[in-house]
Amino acid sequence: MEIADIGEFGLIDRVNNMFAGTIPAQEAIGIGDDCAVIPAGERDWLVTTDMLLEGTHFLRNGTGPYDLGWKSLAVNLSDIAAMGGKPTASFLSLGIPEGISVEYLDEFFKGYRDLSAKWSVPLLGGDTTRAAGPDGKMAINVGMLGYCPSGREKFRKSAVPGDGIYVTGTLGDSAAGLDLILKGEMTEYIELTRKHTRPEPRMEEGRILGNMEAVHAMMDISDGIASDLRHILDASGVSAEIEIDKIPMSDKLREWALGNGKDPMEKALAGGEDYELLFTAADGTVIPSEIRATRIGTIVKGSGHNIKYIRNGSEVLFSASGFDHFRK
Ligand code: ADP
Ligand code: MG
Repeated sequence: MEIADIGEFGLIDRVNNMFAGTIPAQEAIGIGDDCAVIPAGERDWLVTTDMLLEGTHFLRNGTGPYDLGWKSLAVNLSDIAAMGGKPTASFLSLGIPEGISVEYLDEFFKGYRDLSAKWSVPLLGGDTTRAAGPDGKMAINVGMLGYCPSGREKFRKSAVPGDGIYVTGTLGDSAAGLDLILKGEMTEYIELTRKHTRPEPRMEEGRILGNMEAVHAMMDISDGIASDLRHILDASGVSAEIEIDKIPMSDKLREWALGNGKDPMEKALAGGEDYELLFTAADGTVIPSEIRATRIGTIVKGSGHNIKYIRNGSEVLFSASGFDHFRK
């Protein structure tokens, strides 16, 4: 069997099934959320790890080392925020191919350190190896530890019918930024490329939402909500209705899309790496004004993890190539 036959999430399910018996009941919650949870008295420890591989997650000539260092930490911080937690420490492992200079790595560490300092998260260890051979690729793995008060973390499995569905910030900027970077047009829409190269994890928003009982399910958006929302729906056994005209998009994204014959909605729904928070909250919840969040839809009954996209009261079909009107 090829991995392509079962996909990334099919593969993770296999691991999950194979190891399920090794997790002592009540002692940990493992695979399936943004972080694993390990109860320890008044606190629950949160643990996450993410890998960035040259050629897959970044191009060395497309991303500067400072931004790469920043982003390696940012994507892990985002997973802690997604649980409503506070980060404690990070661990950094590097596979370094031939041809990478000390100066390059210094810049990488500077980016990593600046974001560490911003959120007071010390780097407490890691591992360093050589990526051998002329085709050696740079590999970056960050592990992160965080915590939240016992039982207060936000899981993907807690959405209930009637909940409002919300996202922080705007969607699609990062995916448009990647388009620009791949074309070598790094400076024209700096707001878009910056969102891709130097994402700002929503740490404060995560903590505030984490402390709100009315907030039910939460995760961060790394693959685009068309895909990520399904994880919440799957885990919670519910479906969703999304009002596509409510999807928050930046003026810069609209301007870029208009000037380049692109569909901004495709970037907003299916583009990746926004690192915004996606959460559900009981209907009528007042979201604190310091959080820039937009309600984009409602959780509805139905275990088929269906997402119904609605415009002006009628359903529209979303595919990777955009929207078609859906006739019943
Ligand atoms: P995220 O994008 O939030 O980091 P992923 O989609 O990468 O989450 O992973 C989904 C879940 O699967 C997480 O709980 C993660 O820890 C787990 N996971 C992914 N790969 C593996 C693996 N090789 N072994 C064990 N667990 C894994
Ligand atoms: Mg995540």
